[in-house]
Amino acid sequence: QSSHIKRSSLPPMISPLQPRLDRSMSSLTIPPPACMLRPLEVPFRYLFGPGPSNVPPRILAAGARPIIGHLHPEMYEIMNDIKKGIQYAFQTQNNMTIAMSGSGHAAMECAIFNTVEPGESVLVAVNGIWGERVAEIAERMGASVHTMVKAPGGVFTNEEIEKALAKHKPVLFFLTHGESSAGLAHPVDGIGDLCRKHNTLFLVDTVASLGAAPIFMDQQNIDILYTGSQKALNAPPGTAPISFNERACQKMFTRKTKPVSYLLDMSHLSNYWGNDGKPARLYHHTGPVSGFFALRESLAILAETGLEESWKHHKEVAEYLWTGLEDLGLKLFIREKDLRLPSVTTIAIPQGYNWREILQYIMKHHQMEMTGGLGPSINMVIRVGLMGYNCQKRNADLALAALADALRNCKKSKA
Ligand code: PMP
Repeated sequence: QSSHIKRSSLPPMISPLQPRLDRSMSSLTIPPPACMLRPLEVPFRYLFGPGPSNVPPRILAAGARPIIGHLHPEMYEIMNDIKKGIQYAFQTQNNMTIAMSGSGHAAMECAIFNTVEPGESVLVAVNGIWGERVAEIAERMGASVHTMVKAPGGVFTNEEIEKALAKHKPVLFFLTHGESSAGLAHPVDGIGDLCRKHNTLFLVDTVASLGAAPIFMDQQNIDILYTGSQKALNAPPGTAPISFNERACQKMFTRKTKPVSYLLDMSHLSNYWGNDGKPARLYHHTGPVSGFFALRESLAILAETGLEESWKHHKEVAEYLWTGLEDLGLKLFIREKDLRLPSVTTIAIPQGYNWREILQYIMKHHQMEMTGGLGPSINMVIRVGLMGYNCQKRNADLALAALADALRNCKKSKA
Protein backbone atom coordinates (compact mmCIF):
# COMPACT_ATOMS: atom_id res chain seq x y z
CA GLN A 1 0.00 0.00 0.00
CA SER A 2 2.60 2.47 1.06
CA SER A 3 4.53 2.11 -2.21
CA HIS A 4 1.38 3.02 -4.18
CA ILE A 5 0.55 6.29 -2.50
CA LYS A 6 -1.47 8.42 -4.92
CA ARG A 7 0.23 11.58 -6.09
CA SER A 8 -2.66 13.67 -4.83
CA SER A 9 -1.99 12.55 -1.23
CA LEU A 10 1.57 13.93 -1.34
CA PRO A 11 2.39 17.58 -0.69
CA PRO A 12 2.46 19.61 -3.92
CA MET A 13 5.81 19.65 -5.73
CA ILE A 14 7.79 22.79 -5.00
CA SER A 15 9.89 24.20 -7.82
CA PRO A 16 13.36 25.44 -6.85
CA LEU A 17 12.17 29.01 -7.52
CA GLN A 18 9.16 28.74 -5.26
CA PRO A 19 10.75 29.72 -1.93
CA ARG A 20 12.07 32.95 -3.46
CA LEU A 21 8.70 33.88 -4.90
CA ASP A 22 6.97 33.08 -1.65
CA ARG A 23 9.36 35.22 0.29
CA SER A 24 8.25 38.41 -1.46
CA MET A 25 4.73 37.70 -0.19
CA SER A 26 5.87 36.59 3.26
CA SER A 27 4.31 37.70 6.52
CA LEU A 28 7.72 37.48 8.19
CA THR A 29 9.51 40.65 9.10
CA ILE A 30 12.85 38.97 9.70
CA PRO A 31 14.17 37.32 6.51
CA PRO A 32 16.32 34.17 6.66
CA PRO A 33 19.84 35.37 7.50
CA ALA A 34 22.23 35.28 4.51
CA CYS A 35 24.81 33.38 6.58
CA MET A 36 22.34 30.53 7.08
CA LEU A 37 22.04 30.10 3.33
CA ARG A 38 25.78 29.40 3.11
CA PRO A 39 27.25 26.00 4.05
CA LEU A 40 28.95 25.50 7.40
CA GLU A 41 32.68 26.12 7.21
CA VAL A 42 35.09 24.86 9.86
CA PRO A 43 38.81 25.45 9.39
CA PHE A 44 41.47 22.94 10.38
CA ARG A 45 43.28 23.97 13.54
CA TYR A 46 45.98 22.39 15.63
CA LEU A 47 44.34 22.67 19.05
CA PHE A 48 47.47 22.91 21.19
CA GLY A 49 45.95 25.11 23.88
CA PRO A 50 44.36 23.99 27.16
CA GLY A 51 41.29 22.57 25.42
CA PRO A 52 39.35 21.55 23.58
CA SER A 53 41.92 19.29 21.95
CA ASN A 54 41.58 17.76 18.49
CA VAL A 55 39.14 14.85 18.41
CA PRO A 56 40.40 11.70 16.67
CA PRO A 57 38.38 10.35 13.71
CA ARG A 58 37.27 7.29 15.68
CA ILE A 59 35.57 9.44 18.33
CA LEU A 60 34.12 11.83 15.73
CA ALA A 61 32.67 8.79 13.93
CA ALA A 62 31.09 7.50 17.14
CA GLY A 63 29.42 10.87 17.64
CA ALA A 64 28.09 10.77 14.08
CA ARG A 65 26.21 7.48 14.58
CA PRO A 66 22.42 7.66 14.18
CA ILE A 67 20.58 8.93 17.22
CA ILE A 68 18.50 6.54 19.31
CA GLY A 69 16.04 7.50 22.02
CA HIS A 70 17.70 8.59 25.24
CA LEU A 71 15.44 6.21 27.19
CA HIS A 72 15.88 3.18 24.92
CA PRO A 73 17.35 0.06 26.51
CA GLU A 74 20.34 0.21 24.14
CA MET A 75 21.05 3.71 25.41
CA TYR A 76 20.94 2.46 28.99
CA GLU A 77 23.53 -0.16 28.01
CA ILE A 78 25.74 2.57 26.55
CA MET A 79 25.31 4.64 29.72
CA ASN A 80 26.19 1.59 31.82
CA ASP A 81 29.34 1.16 29.72
CA ILE A 82 30.20 4.84 30.23
CA LYS A 83 29.78 4.39 33.97
CA LYS A 84 32.23 1.45 33.94
CA GLY A 85 34.64 3.45 31.79
CA ILE A 86 34.54 6.34 34.27
CA GLN A 87 35.02 3.97 37.23
CA TYR A 88 38.18 2.71 35.52
CA ALA A 89 39.42 6.21 34.62
CA PHE A 90 38.79 7.45 38.19
CA GLN A 91 39.93 4.17 39.80
CA THR A 92 36.78 3.93 41.85
CA GLN A 93 34.09 1.42 42.66
CA ASN A 94 31.54 4.14 43.42
CA ASN A 95 28.05 3.24 42.28
CA MET A 96 27.12 6.93 42.08
CA THR A 97 29.10 7.56 38.92
CA ILE A 98 27.57 9.37 35.96
CA ALA A 99 28.35 11.74 33.10
CA MET A 100 26.83 15.18 33.25
CA SER A 101 24.91 16.54 30.29
CA GLY A 102 27.07 19.61 30.10
CA SER A 103 30.67 20.81 30.18
CA GLY A 104 33.07 20.70 33.12
CA HIS A 105 31.22 23.61 34.70
CA ALA A 106 28.09 21.46 34.93
CA ALA A 107 30.08 18.98 37.01
CA MET A 108 31.49 21.76 39.19
CA GLU A 109 27.99 23.07 39.88
CA CYS A 110 26.56 19.59 40.34
CA ALA A 111 29.17 18.76 42.99
CA ILE A 112 28.61 21.97 44.95
CA PHE A 113 24.84 22.29 44.54
CA ASN A 114 24.16 18.74 45.71
CA THR A 115 26.53 18.42 48.65
CA VAL A 116 26.33 21.90 50.16
CA GLU A 117 23.28 23.60 51.66
CA PRO A 118 22.91 27.37 52.02
CA GLY A 119 24.78 28.71 55.03
CA GLU A 120 27.18 25.74 55.25
CA SER A 121 30.91 26.34 55.36
CA VAL A 122 32.99 25.55 52.25
CA LEU A 123 36.78 25.79 52.00
CA VAL A 124 38.38 26.41 48.61
CA ALA A 125 42.06 26.26 47.67
CA VAL A 126 42.66 29.05 45.17
CA ASN A 127 45.91 28.97 43.18
CA GLY A 128 44.53 29.75 39.74
CA ILE A 129 41.16 30.35 38.16
CA TRP A 130 39.42 27.09 39.09
CA GLY A 131 39.40 27.72 42.81
CA GLU A 132 38.12 31.23 42.10
CA ARG A 133 35.30 29.78 40.01
CA VAL A 134 34.28 27.20 42.59
CA ALA A 135 34.32 29.84 45.33
CA GLU A 136 31.98 31.96 43.22
CA ILE A 137 29.67 29.02 42.46
CA ALA A 138 29.47 28.17 46.18
CA GLU A 139 28.92 31.80 47.09
CA ARG A 140 26.07 32.10 44.57
CA MET A 141 24.20 29.22 46.15
CA GLY A 142 24.51 30.80 49.56
CA ALA A 143 27.38 28.85 51.12
CA SER A 144 29.69 30.47 53.61
CA VAL A 145 32.89 30.42 51.55
CA HIS A 146 36.43 30.51 52.92
CA THR A 147 39.41 30.61 50.60
CA MET A 148 43.08 29.77 51.00
CA VAL A 149 44.78 31.86 48.36
CA LYS A 150 48.19 31.49 46.72
CA ALA A 151 49.66 32.99 43.58
CA PRO A 152 48.95 30.95 40.41
CA GLY A 153 50.82 27.66 40.59
CA GLY A 154 51.24 27.84 44.37
CA VAL A 155 51.16 24.58 46.32
CA PHE A 156 49.31 24.09 49.60
CA THR A 157 51.00 21.90 52.19
CA ASN A 158 48.93 19.35 54.04
CA GLU A 159 49.70 21.26 57.25
CA GLU A 160 48.22 24.45 55.80
CA ILE A 161 45.16 22.56 54.65
CA GLU A 162 44.65 20.88 58.02
CA LYS A 163 44.92 24.22 59.82
CA ALA A 164 42.24 25.72 57.57
CA LEU A 165 40.00 22.64 57.97
CA ALA A 166 40.24 22.95 61.75
CA LYS A 167 39.55 26.68 61.62
CA HIS A 168 36.61 26.80 59.18
CA LYS A 169 35.08 23.35 59.80
CA PRO A 170 33.85 23.14 56.20
CA VAL A 171 31.41 20.53 54.94
CA LEU A 172 33.45 20.51 51.72
CA PHE A 173 37.04 21.23 50.71
CA PHE A 174 37.86 21.90 47.04
CA LEU A 175 41.21 21.39 45.34
CA THR A 176 42.17 21.45 41.65
CA HIS A 177 44.39 18.51 40.72
CA GLY A 178 45.33 19.81 37.27
CA GLU A 179 45.37 23.62 37.55
CA SER A 180 45.25 24.36 33.84
CA SER A 181 45.51 28.13 34.26
CA ALA A 182 48.86 27.69 36.02
CA GLY A 183 50.12 24.38 34.58
CA LEU A 184 50.31 22.77 38.00
CA ALA A 185 49.65 19.16 39.05
CA HIS A 186 48.85 19.58 42.74
CA PRO A 187 49.80 16.72 45.09
CA VAL A 188 46.73 14.99 46.53
CA ASP A 189 48.12 12.32 48.87
CA GLY A 190 47.06 12.56 52.50
CA ILE A 191 44.47 15.31 51.98
CA GLY A 192 41.55 12.87 51.81
CA ASP A 193 42.56 11.47 55.20
CA LEU A 194 42.71 14.96 56.71
CA CYS A 195 39.24 15.70 55.33
CA ARG A 196 37.88 12.50 56.93
CA LYS A 197 39.44 13.44 60.24
CA HIS A 198 37.65 16.81 60.10
CA ASN A 199 34.37 15.45 58.79
CA THR A 200 34.74 17.31 55.49
CA LEU A 201 34.02 16.07 51.97
CA PHE A 202 37.03 16.22 49.64
CA LEU A 203 36.16 17.49 46.14
CA VAL A 204 38.80 17.32 43.41
CA ASP A 205 38.76 18.79 39.88
CA THR A 206 40.58 16.64 37.32
CA VAL A 207 39.20 18.29 34.17
CA ALA A 208 42.68 19.04 32.85
CA SER A 209 44.57 16.11 34.35
CA LEU A 210 42.48 12.95 33.94
CA GLY A 211 44.29 10.43 31.75
CA ALA A 212 47.44 12.56 31.83
CA ALA A 213 48.48 12.46 35.51
CA PRO A 214 47.79 9.73 38.08
CA ILE A 215 44.73 10.03 40.30
CA PHE A 216 43.22 7.24 42.42
CA MET A 217 39.80 8.26 43.69
CA ASP A 218 39.26 5.38 46.14
CA GLN A 219 42.83 4.98 47.37
CA GLN A 220 43.26 8.73 47.87
CA ASN A 221 39.96 9.02 49.75
CA ILE A 222 38.51 11.55 47.35
CA ASP A 223 34.79 11.90 48.04
CA ILE A 224 33.76 13.66 44.84
CA LEU A 225 35.76 13.70 41.62
CA TYR A 226 34.90 15.18 38.25
CA THR A 227 36.49 15.72 34.89
CA GLY A 228 35.64 17.00 31.42
CA SER A 229 35.34 15.30 28.06
CA GLN A 230 37.39 17.65 25.91
CA LYS A 231 40.94 17.43 27.25
CA ALA A 232 42.96 14.19 27.45
CA LEU A 233 39.78 12.16 26.92
CA ASN A 234 39.51 13.77 23.48
CA ALA A 235 35.74 13.68 23.18
CA PRO A 236 33.95 16.83 22.00
CA PRO A 237 33.06 19.37 24.70
CA GLY A 238 29.67 18.86 26.35
CA THR A 239 29.80 15.90 28.73
CA ALA A 240 31.52 15.63 32.10
CA PRO A 241 32.11 12.49 34.21
CA ILE A 242 31.54 12.80 37.94
CA SER A 243 31.54 10.34 40.83
CA PHE A 244 30.36 10.50 44.44
CA ASN A 245 31.37 8.00 47.13
CA GLU A 246 29.19 6.76 50.00
CA ARG A 247 30.15 9.64 52.30
CA ALA A 248 29.19 12.16 49.64
CA CYS A 249 25.91 10.30 48.92
CA GLN A 250 25.10 10.24 52.60
CA LYS A 251 25.48 14.02 52.76
CA MET A 252 23.65 14.85 49.55
CA PHE A 253 20.73 12.49 49.96
CA THR A 254 19.96 13.45 53.57
CA ARG A 255 19.93 17.20 53.00
CA LYS A 256 17.07 19.30 54.32
CA THR A 257 16.70 21.67 51.37
CA LYS A 258 16.36 20.87 47.68
CA PRO A 259 19.39 21.70 45.52
CA VAL A 260 18.97 25.05 43.76
CA SER A 261 19.17 23.43 40.32
CA TYR A 262 16.55 21.03 39.00
CA LEU A 263 18.72 20.03 36.05
CA LEU A 264 21.70 19.18 38.25
CA ASP A 265 19.77 17.49 41.09
CA MET A 266 21.53 14.19 41.79
CA SER A 267 18.35 12.52 43.07
CA HIS A 268 17.01 12.81 39.51
CA LEU A 269 20.32 12.18 37.76
CA SER A 270 21.03 9.05 39.79
CA ASN A 271 17.69 7.66 38.59
CA TYR A 272 18.44 8.64 34.97
CA TRP A 273 21.74 6.74 35.23
CA GLY A 274 20.14 3.72 36.89
CA ASN A 275 22.06 4.24 40.14
CA ASP A 276 19.20 4.54 42.62
CA GLY A 277 18.08 0.91 42.58
CA LYS A 278 14.59 1.79 41.32
CA PRO A 279 13.21 -0.49 38.59
CA ALA A 280 12.28 2.35 36.22
CA ARG A 281 14.35 5.17 34.86
CA LEU A 282 12.09 8.18 34.49
CA TYR A 283 12.32 11.13 32.16
CA HIS A 284 14.26 13.97 33.73
CA HIS A 285 15.95 15.70 30.79
CA THR A 286 17.02 14.59 27.31
CA GLY A 287 20.67 13.56 27.53
CA PRO A 288 23.15 14.45 24.78
CA VAL A 289 22.92 11.13 22.95
CA SER A 290 25.68 11.84 20.38
CA GLY A 291 27.87 13.29 23.12
CA PHE A 292 27.46 10.07 25.12
CA PHE A 293 28.37 7.95 22.07
CA ALA A 294 31.55 9.99 21.67
CA LEU A 295 32.33 9.86 25.39
CA ARG A 296 31.92 6.07 25.39
CA GLU A 297 34.41 5.80 22.53
CA SER A 298 36.93 8.03 24.27
CA LEU A 299 36.66 5.96 27.47
CA ALA A 300 37.04 2.81 25.35
CA ILE A 301 40.28 4.20 23.87
CA LEU A 302 41.55 4.96 27.39
CA ALA A 303 40.66 1.41 28.51
CA GLU A 304 42.43 -0.11 25.48
CA THR A 305 45.51 2.09 25.98
CA GLY A 306 45.58 1.52 29.73
CA LEU A 307 45.67 4.29 32.31
CA GLU A 308 49.28 3.72 33.34
CA GLU A 309 50.42 3.74 29.72
CA SER A 310 48.47 6.95 29.13
CA TRP A 311 50.08 8.64 32.17
CA LYS A 312 53.55 7.47 31.09
CA HIS A 313 53.03 8.65 27.52
CA HIS A 314 51.83 12.12 28.59
CA LYS A 315 54.83 12.48 30.88
CA GLU A 316 57.31 11.43 28.18
CA VAL A 317 55.89 13.80 25.58
CA ALA A 318 55.64 16.63 28.11
CA GLU A 319 59.27 16.16 29.13
CA TYR A 320 60.26 16.21 25.47
CA LEU A 321 58.33 19.47 25.03
CA TRP A 322 59.83 21.01 28.20
CA THR A 323 63.38 20.27 27.02
CA GLY A 324 62.59 21.75 23.61
CA LEU A 325 61.16 24.89 25.19
CA GLU A 326 64.23 25.36 27.38
CA ASP A 327 66.44 24.85 24.30
CA LEU A 328 64.57 27.80 22.75
CA GLY A 329 65.64 29.89 25.74
CA LEU A 330 62.13 29.87 27.25
CA LYS A 331 61.46 29.52 30.97
CA LEU A 332 58.86 27.14 32.31
CA PHE A 333 56.44 28.78 34.73
CA ILE A 334 56.36 25.84 37.15
CA ARG A 335 59.99 25.40 38.16
CA GLU A 336 59.73 22.01 39.85
CA LYS A 337 59.40 19.26 37.25
CA ASP A 338 57.35 16.94 39.47
CA LEU A 339 54.72 19.63 39.96
CA ARG A 340 54.21 20.33 36.26
CA LEU A 341 50.97 19.26 34.67
CA PRO A 342 51.86 16.92 31.79
CA SER A 343 48.79 17.88 29.74
CA VAL A 344 49.08 21.69 29.87
CA THR A 345 52.50 23.34 29.97
CA THR A 346 52.85 26.94 31.09
CA ILE A 347 55.68 29.07 29.70
CA ALA A 348 56.67 32.31 31.45
CA ILE A 349 56.11 35.12 28.94
CA PRO A 350 59.54 35.86 27.48
CA GLN A 351 60.81 39.29 28.48
CA GLY A 352 60.05 42.11 26.10
CA TYR A 353 57.53 40.15 24.03
CA ASN A 354 53.82 40.79 23.72
CA TRP A 355 52.19 37.43 24.37
CA ARG A 356 49.10 38.30 22.34
CA GLU A 357 51.28 39.03 19.33
CA ILE A 358 53.04 35.68 19.68
CA LEU A 359 49.72 33.80 19.86
CA GLN A 360 48.23 35.70 16.92
CA TYR A 361 51.35 35.01 14.85
CA ILE A 362 51.19 31.31 15.61
CA MET A 363 47.50 31.14 14.75
CA LYS A 364 47.97 33.06 11.50
CA HIS A 365 51.09 31.33 10.24
CA HIS A 366 50.76 27.86 11.74
CA GLN A 367 46.98 27.40 12.15
CA MET A 368 47.80 26.52 15.70
CA GLU A 369 46.04 27.48 18.89
CA MET A 370 48.06 28.18 22.01
CA THR A 371 46.62 30.46 24.66
CA GLY A 372 47.55 33.03 27.25
CA GLY A 373 46.81 32.79 30.95
CA LEU A 374 43.37 32.73 32.49
CA GLY A 375 42.09 34.61 35.53
CA PRO A 376 44.99 35.33 37.87
CA SER A 377 47.59 33.89 35.43
CA ILE A 378 46.73 36.31 32.64
CA ASN A 379 49.80 38.28 31.48
CA MET A 380 51.97 35.67 33.20
CA VAL A 381 51.98 32.63 30.91
CA ILE A 382 51.54 31.13 27.48
CA ARG A 383 49.87 27.73 27.61
CA VAL A 384 50.61 24.76 25.37
CA GLY A 385 48.44 21.66 25.70
CA LEU A 386 49.28 18.29 24.18
CA MET A 387 46.53 15.98 25.36
CA GLY A 388 45.38 12.50 24.42
CA TYR A 389 45.35 12.21 20.63
CA ASN A 390 47.45 15.37 20.33
CA CYS A 391 50.04 14.07 22.76
CA GLN A 392 52.72 13.07 20.24
CA LYS A 393 56.38 14.05 19.89
CA ARG A 394 55.74 15.16 16.32
CA ASN A 395 53.10 17.60 17.63
CA ALA A 396 55.59 18.83 20.23
CA ASP A 397 58.00 19.46 17.31
CA LEU A 398 55.30 21.41 15.46
CA ALA A 399 54.55 23.50 18.56
CA LEU A 400 58.28 24.17 19.13
CA ALA A 401 58.81 25.16 15.49
CA ALA A 402 55.84 27.53 15.65
CA LEU A 403 57.13 29.13 18.85
CA ALA A 404 60.67 29.46 17.45
CA ASP A 405 59.24 31.13 14.36
CA ALA A 406 57.14 33.51 16.48
CA LEU A 407 60.10 34.40 18.71
CA ARG A 408 62.11 35.32 15.60
CA ASN A 409 59.35 37.39 14.07
CA CYS A 410 57.57 39.06 17.01
CA LYS A 411 60.77 40.39 18.36
CA LYS A 412 60.82 42.59 21.40
CA SER A 413 57.81 44.69 20.54
CA LYS A 414 55.83 47.05 22.76
CA ALA A 415 55.03 44.34 25.32
N1 PMP B 1 38.43 22.81 35.56
C1 PMP B 1 39.59 22.85 34.89
C2 PMP B 1 40.85 22.47 35.60
C3 PMP B 1 39.60 23.21 33.55
O1 PMP B 1 40.77 23.24 32.89
C4 PMP B 1 38.38 23.52 32.90
C5 PMP B 1 38.34 23.89 31.43
N2 PMP B 1 39.35 24.66 30.97
C6 PMP B 1 37.20 23.48 33.64
C7 PMP B 1 37.25 23.10 34.98
C8 PMP B 1 35.86 23.85 33.07
O2 PMP B 1 35.50 22.99 32.06
P1 PMP B 1 34.51 23.44 30.86
O3 PMP B 1 35.20 24.55 30.12
O4 PMP B 1 34.40 22.18 30.07
O5 PMP B 1 33.24 23.88 31.46
